[in-house]
Amino acid sequence: MEEKLKIAIQKSGRLSEKSLELLKECGIKISNTDRKLKAEARNFPMEILFLRDDDIPQYVEQGVADLGILGENEVWEKDKDVDIVEQLGFGNCRLSLAIPKEEEYTGISYFQGKKIATSYPKILLKYFAEKGIDVKIEEIGGSVEIATGIGLADGIFDIVSTGSTLIMNGLKEVDAIVKSEAVLIANKSLNDEKKALLEKLLFRIRAYKKGSGSKYIVMNAPNESIPEICRILPGMKSPSILPLAEEGWSSIHSVVQEDEFWDVIDALKDVKAQGILVMNIEKMIL
Ligand code: ATP
Ligand code: ZN
Repeated sequence: MEEKLKIAIQKSGRLSEKSLELLKECGIKISNTDRKLKAEARNFPMEILFLRDDDIPQYVEQGVADLGILGENEVWEKDKDVDIVEQLGFGNCRLSLAIPKEEEYTGISYFQGKKIATSYPKILLKYFAEKGIDVKIEEIGGSVEIATGIGLADGIFDIVSTGSTLIMNGLKEVDAIVKSEAVLIANKSLNDEKKALLEKLLFRIRAYKKGSGSKYIVMNAPNESIPEICRILPGMKSPSILPLAEEGWSSIHSVVQEDEFWDVIDALKDVKAQGILVMNIEKMIL
């Protein structure tokens, strides 16, 4: 029988849509996404399992699923024997310590002997053990941000993305301990056929990540600016240069990374580039 990759994704929550979108961007078509328990891919040997994110590391460790998509924070907390094979670039957040805003924070030793509410006891204990600070941990499943308000704990340790939930609950973030994003995890003993399928999937994921992190730009410039423009544009190789009908002018095409994009645009304007067009790149294969 032909092997299929079984991939576990979050059934419903912050990572669900993005996980499905990633598979779609990898050209994988899924027949029924009504999220009962399983769905089949129509054009890739893959089965999608919809689970709670907390359960995914265990299923992948046991081989019930071959792969999983979930927050790195959850992978660390569950501490199962799985491989992290790729950072996926979405679901970005951090795990932070927060205390009531009127409290004076004196540094990490502030927490000595204090009680902290969290859904991530393992990560937190490890952190304080390394610092040699004793804390009491109150493990709760959700709504951690209300724990100080109701007198359950002196501080909290929780996921933060913008910080607005903390502010709404009268808290201030005092220490960001780790950053997290969604990752692809894999079972450690995939057979050769499944390994080959994983490589195929990874190739597509990487092409999508590179493409979505880059922009294709086209501009017009006087020929005397071309050497300088070539220096500014990092591109994949050197930029493509096409003569315009107007004497002495050229059209220049290149690829720019999103994170350096605005600096590059500013520099290009300074050397008389004009009519700059910016386009999304769907996939990029180097
Ligand atoms: P489940 O029902 O599957 O157990 P959950 O309630 O544990 O879901 P979600 O709140 O959907 O989980 O979050 C899933 C993941 O999304 C988190 O583990 C984290 O990696 C990531 N994430 C990114 N930003 C945030 C945020 N602002 N709050 C919570 N999680 C976030
Ligand atoms: Zn969960």
